[in-house]
Amino acid sequence: MIIGLTGGIGSGKSTVAKMFADLGVPVFIADLEGRKLLEEDEAVIKAVKDLFGPSAYEDGKPNRPYIASVVFSDPEKLRQLNAVIHPAVAARFKEWLSRKHAPYVIYEAAILFEHGGHKNCDAVIMVTAPKEMRISRVVQRDRVKREEVLQRMDNQWPEEKKIPLADIVVENIDLDETLRIVEKIHQLYVKN
Ligand code: ATP
Repeated sequence: MIIGLTGGIGSGKSTVAKMFADLGVPVFIADLEGRKLLEEDEAVIKAVKDLFGPSAYEDGKPNRPYIASVVFSDPEKLRQLNAVIHPAVAARFKEWLSRKHAPYVIYEAAILFEHGGHKNCDAVIMVTAPKEMRISRVVQRDRVKREEVLQRMDNQWPEEKKIPLADIVVENIDLDETLRIVEKIHQLYVKN
């Protein structure tokens, strides 16, 4: 079984993913794999250079601020970048999955419903938290301004739109309580 795990910025989805990993569940972190592909995969690097020009890489490393600034003001470029990254991440996931022998695996992605990724999952867990709590967590974690967090939030669907599409919603406020919920979910999926 493939269980999708998603949640808006600062909801705590990486924290929840780690709880599953600590229980021995294989966790595939799609955003991390996407970053690795940008750094290592020759076909992806070539396609990104074709799309964004030579400034997309500096000293062989992806120039993320440059790429981010282009896609921020050009939705078509964002669509084209996703069309390069998403199939490559999907291929990596397929290969990764073929090596796992567990009752279920977790596929963690910040943006899942937005690109239809939930359709490849048997169920989706969505992590939520009150908006102000999410903002202050990210301000603290990333040492960024509130405005920047709000800008990043604008690129994601609001929670109200995602919650009805999720199979399980975990409200992550108190860490101990969240761990108890994760353990219950784990029992459910291990038995199935
Ligand atoms: P992003 O999408 O930005 O990667 P995320 O949803 O993966 O965010 P985390 O990185 O897991 O969120 O959590 C954001 C910050 O809030 C982290 O510093 C984390 O340690 C902290 N945090 C997560 N859950 C809780 C909680 N229940 N109580 C207090 N702090 C928390």
